[in-house]
Order: sequence, then C-alpha cells, then structure tokens
Amino acid sequence: MELKRASLIHKKQRRNPLTEGLRRQGLFLCAFWHMGRKSPVCFLCMCPALMRLFGLAIMMTVLMSLAGCGPSLQSKMTTSAASIQWDYQRLSEYLADVPGIRKLQRWDEHKDGLHIETDHYHIKTTLADPLMLRQVPAFVESAYKAYQSQLPDQVNDSEKFETYLFGQRAEWEAFTQHFTGSDAEVYLQIRRGAYALNSVCVAYNIGRKQTFSILGHEGWHQFVQRHFRYRLPSWLDEGVATLFETCQFNQGVFEFRPQDNLLRLGTLKQALQQGHMIPLWNLITMNPGQAMAGYGSNESAIMTFYAQNYALVRFLREYNYGQRLREYHNLLLGGLRGSWQVEAGLAEAAANRKVPLTAAWNHQISIQLFQTYITGDAAQFEAQYRQFCNEIVYSVRLVK
Ligand SMILES: [Zn+2]
Repeated sequence: MELKRASLIHKKQRRNPLTEGLRRQGLFLCAFWHMGRKSPVCFLCMCPALMRLFGLAIMMTVLMSLAGCGPSLQSKMTTSAASIQWDYQRLSEYLADVPGIRKLQRWDEHKDGLHIETDHYHIKTTLADPLMLRQVPAFVESAYKAYQSQLPDQVNDSEKFETYLFGQRAEWEAFTQHFTGSDAEVYLQIRRGAYALNSVCVAYNIGRKQTFSILGHEGWHQFVQRHFRYRLPSWLDEGVATLFETCQFNQGVFEFRPQDNLLRLGTLKQALQQGHMIPLWNLITMNPGQAMAGYGSNESAIMTFYAQNYALVRFLREYNYGQRLREYHNLLLGGLRGSWQVEAGLAEAAANRKVPLTAAWNHQISIQLFQTYITGDAAQFEAQYRQFCNEIVYSVRLVK
C-alpha cells in the first residue's frame, strides 16, 4: 500500500465557546475545524439521530492540504466566491454540457439559486463558483456509488436525496433557522460546516476541498438516514463516514481514497506513538460525547476516537486481503434490512428514529453486534487491528 508522506501539525486543544455551549446543551456534534491563522478551515458534522444523546465537538488543526479531495481541477475562483456575481444565464450556459446533470433550472424558492437534478440528487445551490459547480454533480453521484459499494447488494432508490449547498454562510444560516426549527440555536453555532438532518444535507462553501470532504462525510449519514432500517452505533457510522473524506478527481469521476486521509492517519500515528490508543472494547462502546471528555491522559481523545474508527472500518474491509469483509458486509446488511441478532429492546430502539438513543444503547448494542458479527476473541482481534494500524501509518511523518 502506498501512502503519501504527510506532515501534520497538531496544536493543543483549546477551550472554545462553541464546544462549551454544545456540551452544556448535551447535543451530538462532530466537528472539524481549523484554528490556525494560516489554514482557517473546518467542517462540522451533525448527526441528528444521536444529537439529543451525546455531546461532541472536535477540534483539530491540520494543514489545509490534508483535508478534502486530492489534486484535480482547482478553481481559481473558490476563495473569492463571495465576489462572484450570480448570473443565471452565464451559469446555465457554463453547466449545459456537464455530464450527469439531468435537469437544470432556477431554484424557485431562492433568488439567485440553481436547482440541479442528477440521477440521485436534487442539489439546490446558490454557489456561484462555476468550476466548483461543474464538479458537484459528478461528486455527489460518485459518492452515491461509493456508499452503495459498502454493501454487497445494491439499495434500490426511487426517491432522490435533497442536498443544499449555499454559497454564503448567511444564506445557510437563514435556511437553517427555518429548517431546524427549535434546534436552530445549536446548529447555528457551527462556525464553518454542514449537517445532515432527516436525510437532507445542508452545507455551504468553505473552500473546494473542505466542502467536498464534508459533503462526502455527511452524504454517508444522509444515505443511512434514508435507507437503513436501523440506526448505527457511533463507531460504525462515523468510521464508515470517514472513508469518504478524501478523494481524487480523474476523468470526470471522483475516486474515494481513504488511504489518503492524512488527517486520520496522522492522528492515528500520534496516538500510537504517544500510547494514547483507546482499547478496542472501549472504542466500540464509546460515544463521541464520552470521547470529547477525554480518555486517560489524552485530551484529544475525540480525534483519536475518529481516527481509530476510521482504521477499524478499514481493518474490517482490508485486513489480509479482505479476510473480514464478509463480517463487515453482514453487519451493515443487518442494519440496512433491520435483521440484527440483538436483544429485542435494542433492535426496537435502533429502528424507531423518534426515540432518542441513549449511551447505554450505544454501549450494549455495540458489544452484542461485535460479538455476533465480528468476533468473540477480542484479544486476537485487537492484536491484528493494532498491527494493521501500525502498517497503515508506517510512511506517515509527523512534524512537530
Ligand atoms: Zn459524522
């Protein structure tokens, strides 16, 4: 496996009003944002299925080049999108020959907006950057195929997803205020980012790479919210979502490349070097809110939590040429179809999205699922997982 050499700069986690506010309100929130002056980048993921349960915020400083999609067309206009004059005629002409667009029209409800229809998405956008707009249809459709590829059977889908992609934060705020109702106050605390709610993804432009990165991550939650009969435990849902944070654009399609996710790899390497790895049984039963509170002496446990779940899902998919892939598929298929062999009460809670999940549910169902679908020999599994973690970070270089 070929890994790019990476340089990661980790800065000390700082107390942040957003983090504190969200923790006080006990909401589930996973957030990534840049704190550095040179790379003011962040994205944030809200998982509403669990949001009433957990409190979570993640702070991580990484080089801008580590997040998002790999080298491809780079719009010279992304950083100055705010200054681009929206022009329907010009944009529609520019997008006329874009493969994958099934229908293009004005967005009725929004002045200066486009409604782009692809095979599986209604994209409603006020984005004015033409080069980025040209890539969005291919990106969401590539992501859709990648989500489907996690499952051994295709999900039949006649209803298209709705994705809102605003050009400006103010537009995103106005929409969020209306869309999230009584929860708006919390969502609006997102400084830079996006969320998925009721199978709808709501994002705004935070730069090309980061926007695509979060659209890929949130798109998985959107897919699960629509298609899966059961809600997934934290480790699995977030671990799979990280697979779609990095990609490469090549000849009109996006190829998702989790092996290039240097944010996760760098965090994993740091945890290994510093002895901050979360033991497997703690990892799979932990929810993001618990991770945010720290683990042992690791104040950045929330980042470790995500990095280890990223590695855990990759382990299940890749270890020993796919030795455990069938276990991974069976676990996801059970969630998709609502056929997990777990206690009835746990299954009912997983299926009923009107019922808030609890930390106890996340803990118990993770243990039962792991023992039923993955392994009963945790010690051997953990040894193999650790070995895999060391292998995938071998060529990653941390820079202090
Ligand atoms: Zn997420």
